Amino acid sequence: MADPKGFLTTARETPTRRPVDLRLLDWREVYETFPAERLEQQAGRCMDCGIPFCHNGCPLGNLIPEWNDLVWRHDWQAASERLHATNNFPEFTGRLCPAPCETACVLGINADPVTIKQVEVSIIDRAWDEGWVAPQPPSRLSGHTVAVIGSGPAGLAAAQQLARAGHTVAVYERADRIGGLLRYGIPEFKMEKHHLDRRLEQMEAEGVRFRPGIEVGIDMTADDLRRRYDAVIIAVGSTIGRDLPVEGRELGGIHQAMEFLPLANRVQEGDADVPVIDAGGRHVVIIGGGDTGADCLGTSHRHLAASVTQLEILPQPPEARPGSEPWPTYPMTYRV
Ligand code: SF4
Repeated sequence: MADPKGFLTTARETPTRRPVDLRLLDWREVYETFPAERLEQQAGRCMDCGIPFCHNGCPLGNLIPEWNDLVWRHDWQAASERLHATNNFPEFTGRLCPAPCETACVLGINADPVTIKQVEVSIIDRAWDEGWVAPQPPSRLSGHTVAVIGSGPAGLAAAQQLARAGHTVAVYERADRIGGLLRYGIPEFKMEKHHLDRRLEQMEAEGVRFRPGIEVGIDMTADDLRRRYDAVIIAVGSTIGRDLPVEGRELGGIHQAMEFLPLANRVQEGDADVPVIDAGGRHVVIIGGGDTGADCLGTSHRHLAASVTQLEILPQPPEARPGSEPWPTYPMTYRV
């Protein structure tokens, strides 16, 4: 167990957000670096529960109390090893996951939960800085070949696991760059793309071959794939947006989020100097108050929109967990 009294003596602490004025001037991530000593104290709040509900909350089954304990004992390298035992890409989840582990944390019954997500991202960022994240090529090849269709997080994780098991893996992606939503959906201010590029370099060194710009079903058929590979994994997303068939939908200046966000990301990739859909100086209305709406909100502000109004069909949720959504459920609360 980490600090036996940590949950009694240490208050929950989360990283500071960079000042809004600065965030509007660049596309760097929102949060400041969290000092290692304070992070170790936060990890020390973990109670190493007999039944760790954080495991149930985490879709990956991350070994959360184990790496909390290791961080508290300053053994960050071992913590990184335990983190990677269940998670191929903790630098993605540590930035993008809504952290259902924290809403399931037992400490959350009557106190603030452990800052699990911050511990996770701090471990992996330090692991990269220290050079502990190295390619793990297989010692021998199996002779089997696998095609993975789709290069989002699911396709990449499958490809990495298969390559490390010795199979020869090729990842097909219809876009011009690898990464799926990680590349063109998630804005730079939520996850800077060098995190993705670094992971792709590791995978290439492990033997994964990337084939961007090939749309399976058009550029090559399913039969082509079956002939060339022993197995095929389908890990595709969808670019078909949910439309809103109301009067005036056909007017100019109305765009789907997944038209707007990729074009903004292309500017960050260096494909254009200005976005094709530019919110700069415009009065923007965003329909939808979820994560995608929030991405459009942050992007519009960084385009220096004249004003941004966000509409949501549901009533504004409470700031804290309502009684109708008790621990350990994932509650609908107001987050900005
Ligand atoms: S539920 Fe919370 S306190 Fe318990 S082991 Fe998991 S992180 Fe630690």
